[in-house]
Amino acid sequence: MVLTGMLISTVLLATDPYKYTVDITSVQDDKIYVELQAPRVKKKEIVFYLPKIVPGTYAIADYGRMVSELKAYDKKGRELTVERLDDNSWKIQNAKKLRKIGYWVEDTFDTNKEGPGIFQPAGTNIEEGKNYIINTSGFFGYFEGMKKQPFEINFVRPLDFYGATGLRPVVEGGLAGKISLEATTPSADNAAVDKFEVSDYDRLVDSPLMYSKADTAIVRVANTDVLVASYSPNNVVSAKEIAATMKEVLEAQSKYLGGKLPVDKYAFIFYFTDQPVTSYGALEHSFSSLYYMPERTIAQMNQQLRDFAAHEFFHIVTPLNVHSEEIDNFDFNDPKMSQHLWMYEGMTEYFAGNVQVKYGLITPDQYLQKMRGKIIQASGYNDTLAFTVMSKNTLDKHANQYGNVYQKGALIGMALDLKLRKLSGGEYGTQELMAELSAKYGQSNAFEDDELFGVITEMTYPEIGEFFAKHVAGGEPIPYTDLLATAGVDLTTGGTTEVYSIGISQNTITLAQHNDKQMLAIANAGGLDEFGKALGLLDGDILYKMNGKEIPGLSELNSFMGAQIQNQPNLETFSFTVIREVDGEKKEMVLSTANEKITASLPLGLSFNANATPEQLALRKQWLEPKQ
Ligand SMILES: [Zn+2]
Repeated sequence: MVLTGMLISTVLLATDPYKYTVDITSVQDDKIYVELQAPRVKKKEIVFYLPKIVPGTYAIADYGRMVSELKAYDKKGRELTVERLDDNSWKIQNAKKLRKIGYWVEDTFDTNKEGPGIFQPAGTNIEEGKNYIINTSGFFGYFEGMKKQPFEINFVRPLDFYGATGLRPVVEGGLAGKISLEATTPSADNAAVDKFEVSDYDRLVDSPLMYSKADTAIVRVANTDVLVASYSPNNVVSAKEIAATMKEVLEAQSKYLGGKLPVDKYAFIFYFTDQPVTSYGALEHSFSSLYYMPERTIAQMNQQLRDFAAHEFFHIVTPLNVHSEEIDNFDFNDPKMSQHLWMYEGMTEYFAGNVQVKYGLITPDQYLQKMRGKIIQASGYNDTLAFTVMSKNTLDKHANQYGNVYQKGALIGMALDLKLRKLSGGEYGTQELMAELSAKYGQSNAFEDDELFGVITEMTYPEIGEFFAKHVAGGEPIPYTDLLATAGVDLTTGGTTEVYSIGISQNTITLAQHNDKQMLAIANAGGLDEFGKALGLLDGDILYKMNGKEIPGLSELNSFMGAQIQNQPNLETFSFTVIREVDGEKKEMVLSTANEKITASLPLGLSFNANATPEQLALRKQWLEPKQ
């Protein structure tokens, strides 16, 4: 890998691209300056946008909030009139004269700005002299009606920094000497320029970068060069270690996909944090995925790393190669959601587990435990809400059900796989289905959202159409017991037991900002157990005290809760002090109830039936072992 020196390749852009320059060598007040040499605008006035949302996150981000002091200039450097319309858009007057726009961008990782929290893998980071996460949606905008034009992006970076990305640079380590921006001038001695070109705004948003001192490794898997880049602030884990564990997963994935990976270059970009985390994860792109995870040793995070990486990489199948029009023609500022999260996220998550058991990375018993976990987790969500309806409304009404895509979504994948294999005598399962759909559509042909179930039914069996109608487009729960029995797997539930409850669980709480502090809040009151309901907790309640004791910050939360639970049998009444908004005013109130045990179901179990019939054994083999 070249760190400095010139590397010129021959991507030529059509005339009149957007030309962006970002100077990461000059950070001021935690902000970076971005300058755009604008393409020719043919209208009298034009709106400049940063995205409200990007593909794959299924949540509003409002990236424009991070932009300040946006100014527009004509050829002679005179300022044009700019009106900020809302968080994400600016109207520019006299736009035919527009030549240049400049603005400052702050990062999302440590912002105090009001508005939605941005999932870090889709966010931006400016840690001066250490690390820069450039999710391009947080730095670069587009003009109304002009997102299909090419983009040229220049990064002025410190000499010893490396830009990890799935893009191929047009120039790597070019001279910074001639660059002078409206607000900064990089020092030519200590800076270099990397230049990238992409065909349009969609491709730009699909291409994150991470700048830091290089810690990279390259592995070759089948036909693909895979770059692993890591930023571990305390050097707890290295790119080389990650690459070694990833290689095995990717080799299994290439076999799962028929012996070849669908891209020739791919980048896994890892940012590890030593700060306390409330959530972490990754986001997929066509040629890369970006990970935000707590900094731990390779041994501590090995399995999770594999699960995450397998999931993100399989997104190359869907939505990247099989998707609906809503995603193909993605509207960054007025998004329309598709009904098919069961496929984009659910099938992807199902594949990420199934590939590991098929190629021996986990044992069949471990795999059953994974699926068991998903059945249990899914039971915390609304099981009679049709998945298509949830999917369509995931930005607003059903946002609190989104997490079920990784649980029930994957179980829909499993159900389809077992059903298809049963109907086809083992020959045809979800692997074959997704391969056929990829061949039919691919990256540039979208399906119509309403037609997908019909298309799949046509390709397969009428019974599959019935399954979709009942269990995906309808609200009928999936009969897991009968379904798993076809592969000789017993699902057991062991009756009920009496336990103490604290009323809340992972599925019913979220984090809320209150007086500059992150506090627990109720997010899914409908999912509370009978104790939580008896307490009278409501959505939006911020949890301030538990049995009179102030609930501490996140880093001490586990030990606090542990002590509370231990002491619970000694209590006569149990209480939460909450902060609740009443008629627009925040009020503190104590909610209490008698501290009595509630009836809870005993945990569900999955096990292989030792007396399975030859037919069940055959299906089990087709489900969990590679095709011979
Ligand atoms: Zn995903």
